[in-house]
Amino acid sequence: MKKHNYSAGPCILPQEVFREASQAILDFNDSGLSILEISHRSKDFVDVMEEARNLSLELLGLEGKGYKALFLQGGASMQFLMIAYNLLKDKAAYLNTGAWSTKAIKEAKFFGDVTEVASSADKDFKYIPKGYFIPSDVDYFHCTSNNTIYGTQMKEFPRTPKPVICDMSSDIFSRELDFSQFDLIYAGAQKNMGPAGTTLVVIKEDILGYVERSIPSMMDYRIHINKASMYNTPAVYAVYVSLLTMRWLKNNGGIKAIEEKNEKKANLLYSEIDINPLFEGYANKEDRSVMNATFTLVNDDLKETFDELWKEAGINGLNGHRSVGGYRASMYNALPLESVQVLVDVMSELERKA
Ligand SMILES: *Cc1c(COP(=O)(O)O)cnc(C)c1O
Repeated sequence: MKKHNYSAGPCILPQEVFREASQAILDFNDSGLSILEISHRSKDFVDVMEEARNLSLELLGLEGKGYKALFLQGGASMQFLMIAYNLLKDKAAYLNTGAWSTKAIKEAKFFGDVTEVASSADKDFKYIPKGYFIPSDVDYFHCTSNNTIYGTQMKEFPRTPKPVICDMSSDIFSRELDFSQFDLIYAGAQKNMGPAGTTLVVIKEDILGYVERSIPSMMDYRIHINKASMYNTPAVYAVYVSLLTMRWLKNNGGIKAIEEKNEKKANLLYSEIDINPLFEGYANKEDRSVMNATFTLVNDDLKETFDELWKEAGINGLNGHRSVGGYRASMYNALPLESVQVLVDVMSELERKA
């Protein structure tokens, strides 16, 4: 039986994507070859890469607006340093909303000064700071749109003349935004876009070329752009499965339609968290994430019973991040509303039993 998969990443992907992806391992495009054994320079794969790059821009509404899409390796964590390598001349502004921002800041400091414009570390990253000031002498502003570990999400982004860079690893393709307000968007595929092994990077090309340092080839966005994301062997299978997921999204109404579903799922679960006296939300209400809902048991004595109940119900991956504890329900695009109903039913069953 298929589990109700709440894993935070790698995570649930659509069943039809799994079916098509497994077929391609046996015989890709009726070629008599597996996708795992063909050259990345073959026409079949060059077409995959091109469609993946184009479709990511199409879904974000960024076609013909000076953006380029790349599928790179090294995870979102590699982007923490690549961004600074390519864009940080003297000083950059970072908003610190959690563990991932903190890691991004650490890497940027190898290349220049970092101004932390605001931080929610004082309250265990339970909220998103607002009303901060971005200095005029910085090279760019960096933020994390969704904080996977704490379950907070930025609902608004600051307007600034400086390039805005956003780590969207855990909410890419989940909601409509004016994506042209960002100059660089990046996302490790394994949260909401595909399997682990590739990272989507969408860059407005005109922000590149201003740093004076020499940049090693693999770190240089311009080289990857010039080579159409094929400077070296890309993560062929991860890019292919990401493409299948993007096609699935497009065929199901794109970001607009999935956003409505995501809102429904989040509302269903958060209402239960708020109504059920046995549970408590972790993040500030106004900053709650639609993707990752974090919550705790008011009385830890019920932990064993609750854990048994949700495991019996076929739920997987509900434990909170090791640094936060409690529970985390990751409700990425491919998670059906029915799975959320199963969790909510288990939570009310616990209330009846307790
Ligand atoms: C998971 C995650 C990362 C790290 O991604 P890797 O691909 O493992 O390097 C970075 N930022 C956010 C917001 C994440 O959720």
